[in-house]
Amino acid sequence: MNKYNILVVEDDNSVKNLITTTLSMHDYKYVTASNGSGAIMAAASHNPDIVLLDLGLPDMDGVEVIRRIRSWSNMPIIVISARSEDTDKIEALDAGADDYLTKPFSIEELLARLRVTQRRLGIVSGELYSESSVFKNGALRIDYAAGCAYLGTEELKLTPMEYRLLCLLSKNVGKVLTYTYITKNIWGHSLENDISCLRVFMATLRRKIEKNNDGTQYIQTHIGVGYRMLKVE
Ligand code: CA
Repeated sequence: MNKYNILVVEDDNSVKNLITTTLSMHDYKYVTASNGSGAIMAAASHNPDIVLLDLGLPDMDGVEVIRRIRSWSNMPIIVISARSEDTDKIEALDAGADDYLTKPFSIEELLARLRVTQRRLGIVSGELYSESSVFKNGALRIDYAAGCAYLGTEELKLTPMEYRLLCLLSKNVGKVLTYTYITKNIWGHSLENDISCLRVFMATLRRKIEKNNDGTQYIQTHIGVGYRMLKVE
């Protein structure tokens, strides 16, 4: 039984109906809002587990809705963008959104994004984050206190930069991080050249943590947007 409560923010009735019908069929509970101010009120009064937020709203930009909600809550926000330009998604992610869907999307995509976010919620509310300074994801283990990472029983030989990247991704597991977010966190600024450097470091990091050849993917590339660490089952 699914007990997650979803806030659906969408002014287009046909899209809203598609989403709510899908949610009902999969035992989600939901509330809806058709504009930005209604979304902020519903987020505050219903305290939903996940927000599905259309970016193009009649009264305010969806990014502004994200900023307002983020001023008091970390509830996961999945952005729905009709625009295919990466800049909208990136702006939304940098404002604090967790993930995005681009219209038109399939029901399967919608459900997949919800599952990824639920897994993230499970980790954040679970014991992994509360007391322990050890992060576990599949065969990957990071001992933050000791500053070491392991794949299975083998200690990974990471450069300081790779280790910092790995920690940043793991502390945001399930969430898409933009190039700007990552480079600002790692280097303190985001220059054109930083993104090229980031690609190189990410490639070497991935080779080290995904080398077991068992098909496990820990880091997902979002072309033109950024990277995400996936929660491995
Ligand atoms: Ca819209």
